[in-house]
Amino acid sequence: MRPSFATTCLLMAFGCSRANSDGGSAPRAPASEALSTPSTESPEATTAPSSSSKPAATHLTDTIETDAGPLQITPLHHATFYMQYAGKVLWFDPWSKADLDTTPRADYVFVSDIHHDHLDVAAVRKVSKEGTIIIAPTAVAEQLASAVVMKNGDRKELPEFTVEATPMYNIQRGPEPGKVFHEKGRGNGYLFTFSNLRVYVSGDTECTPEMAALKNIDVAFVCMNLPYTMPPAEAAGCVTQFKPKTVYPFHYRDSNLDEFQESVAAAGIDVRRRDWY
Ligand code: ZN
Repeated sequence: MRPSFATTCLLMAFGCSRANSDGGSAPRAPASEALSTPSTESPEATTAPSSSSKPAATHLTDTIETDAGPLQITPLHHATFYMQYAGKVLWFDPWSKADLDTTPRADYVFVSDIHHDHLDVAAVRKVSKEGTIIIAPTAVAEQLASAVVMKNGDRKELPEFTVEATPMYNIQRGPEPGKVFHEKGRGNGYLFTFSNLRVYVSGDTECTPEMAALKNIDVAFVCMNLPYTMPPAEAAGCVTQFKPKTVYPFHYRDSNLDEFQESVAAAGIDVRRRDWY
């Protein structure tokens, strides 16, 4: 069954217009700044917008029907979003720059990597409640003692859904010759099966052979931004190889989404642009 989509407003009290409450009024890092002084420890620190860009409490939620009920997706900021399914709340890379105040607490938190735009220990604690299950790769678990480790290729059958950890890594881009920003095996993308619906979250990656070879993906969250992951054209080239039914570009910051959308939409893929900044 092909999933159907509907967009709803999560917090009706604030209206659904969004009114550029975050990206429209907040200063953005200029492209030149985004390319400056990458480091190996926390490369995206230099591109982070100021705290004044913290979004107001208005979020758009997409609802996707599965054979076992709706999956709801709420994009928040950069790589931070949450999904709701079967009464559970799944958070991804909670970051303090996102709205963590008016959003639901997590039953599951998935962390992709050690960089600070993905691993924010205070934010993980903030979205957690008693009994929250945190899932992360080994390098993240070293800083989050309560995390359950999944390595690339690991698969877990949870009561409500199945999750597989997928590779995410740079092939060529790094802070200096011979080094890459994301080493293969350190971070996790995640591939979920919600009844008949398969949802892929890329993590920070270039177009790896594993990503290009994905099959039967209904919804994909695909990163881009230079110099850390990949440019829009490369992301689009990858997406048109594995052909998800729907793609959400995320983690894109100042990337040219028109360029991404043009070739991806031409391949018949539904491109869902949301305001992540
Ligand atoms: Zn990142």
